[in-house]
Amino acid sequence: MNKATIGVIGGSGLYEIEGAKTIEEISLDTPWGKPSDAIVIAEIEGHRAAFQPRHGRGHVHLPHEVNYRANIAALKMIGVREIIAFSAVGSLKEEIHPLDFVLPDQIIDRTRSRPSTFFGDGVAAHVSFANPFCSRLHGVIKPAADAVGLTMHTGQTLICMEGPAFSTKAESNLYRSWGAGVINMSTIPEAKLAREAEICYAVICMSTDYDCWHETEAAVTIELVIENLITNAGNAKKLLKLLLERLGRERGCECEKAAKNSMITVEHKRNKNQIKKLRTILPDYF
Ligand SMILES: [Zn+2]
Repeated sequence: MNKATIGVIGGSGLYEIEGAKTIEEISLDTPWGKPSDAIVIAEIEGHRAAFQPRHGRGHVHLPHEVNYRANIAALKMIGVREIIAFSAVGSLKEEIHPLDFVLPDQIIDRTRSRPSTFFGDGVAAHVSFANPFCSRLHGVIKPAADAVGLTMHTGQTLICMEGPAFSTKAESNLYRSWGAGVINMSTIPEAKLAREAEICYAVICMSTDYDCWHETEAAVTIELVIENLITNAGNAKKLLKLLLERLGRERGCECEKAAKNSMITVEHKRNKNQIKKLRTILPDYF
């Protein structure tokens, strides 16, 4: 199935692409279960993308309840090779103001209860995750953000926490002492799974608040997050239109073959059922 090569994962506040023409809605079942919602194949000014609302339309899944494996597998199964993910984040630095955009290049995993790999069950594999986001995508996203006049911070570290409650002040200050720039609840395991499935992945973070560390700004509340999300969603859509024009070409980055030499289980010991599942996302190797 080759429906679209560019995937867009919408986070909180971004449940559909306004102004896009819906070509088709695809409800898929994957070997890992059902994705958060139907995938919408959409067209914006002649450019096609597969849109997936991470939390489902109407925001029905908490970050730790999202079936990330099904979401990534479904995108791969319909032909997606590049994912632009959007995520609402809290800022851990004074200079990252609410409504600013952030393109993190590193991540610290503070999640604890989520399946974070397609492998296991008799097929062991380890992919490289030293650089968790696709640098080639970053090379397209930053100039596009500049072109539409967005403030976008680069070179930042993202903390992905378990949630769903927001951080305590002690945690927020601990993450600040680590030098982290922003915090969210969903990029792990999404980015790890995309790498295993050999999909280029980048997350565009939209700052909504100062988490709870700031002495003079109010601590994060869901009302504040929602208000800023509405403004940010408009900016995200402008950026997305330009990205769709510029992506979808030859890749040539390390993501393309990320799983190639990752398998460690000897061939005759590999679990046949697991091989069948993996074949849906990595048909070149299984
Ligand atoms: Zn890549």
